Amino acid sequence: MFLSCFTAKLNLICSDFPITTSTSSLTTLHLDGYFDLEDISHVAEDFGKQYQYYPLAVLHPSSVSDIATTINHIFHMGPYSELTVAARGHGHSTHGQSQAYNGLVIKMESLSTPEMKVHYMAGKVSFIDVSSGELWINVLHESLKYGLTPKSWTDYLYLTVGGTLSNAGISGQAFKHGPQISNVYQLEVVTGKGEVKLCSEKQNPDLFYAVLGGLGQFGIITRARIALQPAPKMVKWIRVVYTDFLMFTKDQEHLISSKNTFDYVEGFVVINRTGIFNNWRSSFKPRDSVGANQFNADQSVGKTLFCLEIAKYFNPNKADIANEEVEILLSQLNFSPSTLFLSEVWDNRTSAVIPDEEIFYIVAFLSSALPSGKGIRSLEHMVNQNRRILEFCQRRHIGMKQYLAHYTSQRGWQSHFGAQWKTFIKRKSCYDPLAILAPGQKIFKKATPLS
Ligand SMILES: Cc1cc2nc3c(=O)[nH]c(=O)nc-3n(C[C@H](O)[C@H](O)[C@H](O)COP(=O)(O)OP(=O)(O)OC[C@H]3O[C@@H](n4cnc5c(N)ncnc54)[C@H](O)[C@@H]3O)c2cc1C
Repeated sequence: MFLSCFTAKLNLICSDFPITTSTSSLTTLHLDGYFDLEDISHVAEDFGKQYQYYPLAVLHPSSVSDIATTINHIFHMGPYSELTVAARGHGHSTHGQSQAYNGLVIKMESLSTPEMKVHYMAGKVSFIDVSSGELWINVLHESLKYGLTPKSWTDYLYLTVGGTLSNAGISGQAFKHGPQISNVYQLEVVTGKGEVKLCSEKQNPDLFYAVLGGLGQFGIITRARIALQPAPKMVKWIRVVYTDFLMFTKDQEHLISSKNTFDYVEGFVVINRTGIFNNWRSSFKPRDSVGANQFNADQSVGKTLFCLEIAKYFNPNKADIANEEVEILLSQLNFSPSTLFLSEVWDNRTSAVIPDEEIFYIVAFLSSALPSGKGIRSLEHMVNQNRRILEFCQRRHIGMKQYLAHYTSQRGWQSHFGAQWKTFIKRKSCYDPLAILAPGQKIFKKATPLS
């Protein structure tokens, strides 16, 4: 019902006004930062190097007001201007999501003021206020000065706060604390109308949850208040290797459901064709007592192996207790099954979608191709293989959802969001009614009817 109202409105606008794509009026705006109309090629690509969409201009904002003024101006140009706006974090998307063809790209990393600020009082909730263009590695360094760290991570830390909060932000702590979007207390957001809004669980909650995991569709996150916890003094880091997939999954599910468990659990599936396990010998002492670890690395060459990476935080003054706890946990491996990535740690008010299952795994294919790669090492082959995996899941009715999804039709997005699609559309028409924001996600097209 709501969808058809929105369609009608955009149809009307399309037929009444000529479409224009010009940035000339933008350059008359009074900003603290500046527009660059020349040096634009670096934002016309991303980590994936598969898509190249040239914008008309890049905004290097020096203040939140720069972003608000610009978007407000574009909003008031109306739907007969084709100008769209993409916030660009560290550009680590792989399908052009942070690009804006013939539009405006906002370099969020230029927005580094006000400076990061840690709020810490013994016995009270600790957090850090950061600009959304800040890299997680810098957030870590700053919070460590106070003996604190964010609770939830990504594996790789050269990603921006705004970029990962627009997706989910997942790593081996997610089973315990939830993804990064579950560990944010407050956001400052510039909507698609150019309004600056503070939002949290209590203040403008719909906008807060819309933006978290919202693929940049509802507003540009300019600041975030990130939950912190005391940094571990020491970490026991353990890897165990399995040849049996069922044992591997049983153990993961057991570990993450145990009460006094590890602080980090992540599994890997690897083909031992690179001598990887021999390399591990230099950094890990073999443990005879752990059954799952007893395998011959040389005999396993060419075989598919399953590895669990686990970590326990501890205080060196209490190393004996930590050792004992680790021993107990390790001795329980291969036992009772339970759940992995419990759905309670995902907040279903956010825009992120997860499979409708009590137990689900996050499976990441970390393949990479060189431009010179041929045959099975070519990009084409890898993309094709990914597509076949998705088709297989569809054929077998495996309740799968893509993380960092990429669809080229709105029908694809509609089925991705499933029951959440109605809410997604409703939020879009409320916070970005002209579909100005994040065009690279290819969910909505400015000045074109939704279908
Ligand atoms: C090497 C590598 C390792 C990775 N590791 C992990 C991992 O361990 N865990 C994980 O969860 N993900 C991981 N990712 C995926 C990563 O989280 C996403 O690609 C993320 O979007 C990248 O952040 P970015 O700052 O580069 O965002 P960009 O690619 O610049 O932007 C991504 C999207 O978010 C929008 N956006 C950016 N900033 C803002 C903002 N401030 N407000 C609103 N919208 C915004 C953009 O318009 C775009 O649509 C990895 C990716 C790579 C390439």
